[in-house]
Amino acid sequence: MATGVSAVPAVAPVLVLNSGSSSVKLAVLDPVSGERRVTALAERVGTGEATVRVRRGEQEQAGAPADGSHRGVIKELLAALADELATVAGVGHRVVHGGQRFSSSAVVDDPVLATLRELTGLAPLHLPGNLAGIEAARAELPDRVHVAVFDTAFHSGMPARAYRYAVPAGWYSQHAVRRYGFHGTSHRYVSGRAAELLGRPLASLRMVTVHLGNGCSATAVRDGISVDTTMGMTPLEGLVMGTRSGDVDPGALGYLADRLGKGLAGLLDQLNTRSGLLGLSGISNDMREVQDAAEHGSADAALAVEVFCYRVAKAIGALAVALGRLDAVVFTGGIGEHSATVRSAVLVQLGILGITEDVGANGEDGRRTGGRISGAGSVPVLVVPTDEELLIARDTWELTAEPAR
Ligand code: ADP
Repeated sequence: MATGVSAVPAVAPVLVLNSGSSSVKLAVLDPVSGERRVTALAERVGTGEATVRVRRGEQEQAGAPADGSHRGVIKELLAALADELATVAGVGHRVVHGGQRFSSSAVVDDPVLATLRELTGLAPLHLPGNLAGIEAARAELPDRVHVAVFDTAFHSGMPARAYRYAVPAGWYSQHAVRRYGFHGTSHRYVSGRAAELLGRPLASLRMVTVHLGNGCSATAVRDGISVDTTMGMTPLEGLVMGTRSGDVDPGALGYLADRLGKGLAGLLDQLNTRSGLLGLSGISNDMREVQDAAEHGSADAALAVEVFCYRVAKAIGALAVALGRLDAVVFTGGIGEHSATVRSAVLVQLGILGITEDVGANGEDGRRTGGRISGAGSVPVLVVPTDEELLIARDTWELTAEPAR
């Protein structure tokens, strides 16, 4: 079974495939060093305007695929990667939702695939793309081991008090309505790296990991296990995100449905695609653009950043309660890794937890201080670049090699 971020001996490379609803990302990488031999990206998949790009070091080839479907672009990209694929040990697939069935990464066989199809209703926007990728890659590379790595698996050890909603019990027992959590691969990777950087065993650390990208979530990691997280049944719950609202009183939906005569699907679409930084600022879902607008005098953009940072700080406080003791806070994701202003605006609100900022170290993303951006005597705060592909490659290698051990 694949657990933790373990060091593995030198081995053959692994193909990692992230097949989403409209894009497909591939990478052939070394599961020990993380070195990429080749990467490829297809965008606007499933439309008439799909594009493909293959990158080897500094060299890039771009074009339009003959067939823009998931099957078509994967077939074309695997053909373009044929040289590198000759030596790959296995194929790791990113899968957004494993429901209650998958608590760790799993070798894909026909029964696993059938279970994933049954779970589609839990993530209708993402699982069909994941499944299309697995099916296409299995058809093209039938002699390789395929492994599914789930965004939800890291959170499968959450206690019931964290994952149950206070709703009629039948919603849970008959329909599996509960909190699952997402971004698990990222939270698991950065918590392992943070333990290495702190020089302490992961098994004795209590930390809050904060992934701030287009999607945002924070997780309480106790002894290497997620014990609570901000995302819920779907990736809509919790923090403010690029276009997603995060927490909203569901009563507001009933009120608006009456007032606007809108159906639930339309309102949910607005919460998923027109809210968050975009909704508050009216300008952009991209933190850089929102910060830029705030600096140029937009009060709405300034408020969007303020709400975003306040909600992150509040979540860290709540997750510290879940941990009972706080040994570290870890920032990752595009915003978490690169926005010193956002980190600073969060940290300044966390004095109550014994946290102070080292302004110089924060300003340079902790590069000079091994990731550490906290002041002397503070609970350590780290910036740790995430690498979900590397963790997928490691799980894949472990499960590929397992039968031989
Ligand atoms: P995804 O979640 O799609 O993987 P990323 O993790 O790359 O996305 O995060 C994208 C977000 O990171 C965007 O909001 C972008 O503006 C933000 N970001 C990237 N670099 C910076 C930066 N230097 N300063 C502020 N925000 C940044």
